[in-house]
Amino acid sequence: NRQIHLVERPKAAPTHEHFNLVETSIPKLGDQEVLIHNLYLSVDPYMRGRMSDAKSYVPPFKLNEKLVGGVVGEVVESNSDQFQTGDVVTGMLGWEEYSIAPEKEIRKVNPELAPVTTSLGILGLTGLTAYFGLIDICQPKEGETVVVSGAAGAVGSVVGQIAKIKGARVVGIAGSDEKIDYIKNELGFDEAINYKTTENIQEALEKACPNGVDAYFDNVGGEISDAVLNLLNKFARIAQCGAISSYNKVDDQGPRIQTKLIKSSALIKGFIVSDYAERFKEGAEQLGQWLQQGKLKYEETITEGFENIPDAFLGLFEGNNLGKQLVKIGEP
Ligand code: NDP
Repeated sequence: NRQIHLVERPKAAPTHEHFNLVETSIPKLGDQEVLIHNLYLSVDPYMRGRMSDAKSYVPPFKLNEKLVGGVVGEVVESNSDQFQTGDVVTGMLGWEEYSIAPEKEIRKVNPELAPVTTSLGILGLTGLTAYFGLIDICQPKEGETVVVSGAAGAVGSVVGQIAKIKGARVVGIAGSDEKIDYIKNELGFDEAINYKTTENIQEALEKACPNGVDAYFDNVGGEISDAVLNLLNKFARIAQCGAISSYNKVDDQGPRIQTKLIKSSALIKGFIVSDYAERFKEGAEQLGQWLQQGKLKYEETITEGFENIPDAFLGLFEGNNLGKQLVKIGEP
């Protein structure tokens, strides 16, 4: 049973040196436990935070142990009344080919409703992050201007589409022409800015948001957000979802935001998707319905091969993914 372990804590950008592929054996199955053959695994930017030992909302990954993340797999042996061989399940399992999980830590996925990979993306924590951050914090209204950064990524691409459903004018910021084309022409964003090729982001944003910014869903922080926050309208709302531009920085000293918030009487709120755990059912049902009605689209970038998990993870910081980044590690 191959696993990937964290062997050193990255200080700045992580590299292959921080990971190690280890051969282990599968432990014996206990009571109320199931053995899962892992099929797809999610790599996520927040995992970078767990690789350092700074205090956070989740404990750091342990050194020389397997990394842990969202996985979907197939039950191959069960000591639980609730799961049978062949059931497709998801949970926070390991970067490993086979996992043993207590029955209460996994849930069933219905492969007939949607492709099973969606349980790690648009119908899983990714979609829920977009849904609650946007609906609860940004509260977009018809005709308002909503800006989203990281707009062609897993969360951002869903945020923009929900804002469109709510009747807002949506401006996305992303890092390649392919991504710009996708969010404008496939997902129906009104404007899109390539922050890597645009010389003056401030000017480009002003042009894209002639009526200012009413809501900002921030996935990236840094200079992109500095520019967005200069355009806030009175009573603007900001959902602080992520700050990927700073995750690999040792010392991130950005411009101050206080004056910008006061001038616009804006509200900024950080959140973690699990803050909304009690409302996950509502979010998942709504996302499922929009998906079925064809109102939401999604893209997945699927890297093949267990040994390529670190590559897929590192690629998140290079912008290699369009939509949700997954790794296919097994065949059903
Ligand atoms: P994405 O699919 O958006 O992947 C990350 C993307 O970030 C890349 O594709 C890249 O796109 C962009 N990026 C990388 N480096 C930079 C940079 N220096 N500046 C600007 N953009 C950069 O990942 P997710 O959708 O899973 O996550 C998006 C954000 O949401 C992350 O910050 C993550 O930590 C956060 N998050 C927060 C949650 C919460 O509960 N609060 C839950 C889930 C995610 P590009 O080509 O455009 O640069």
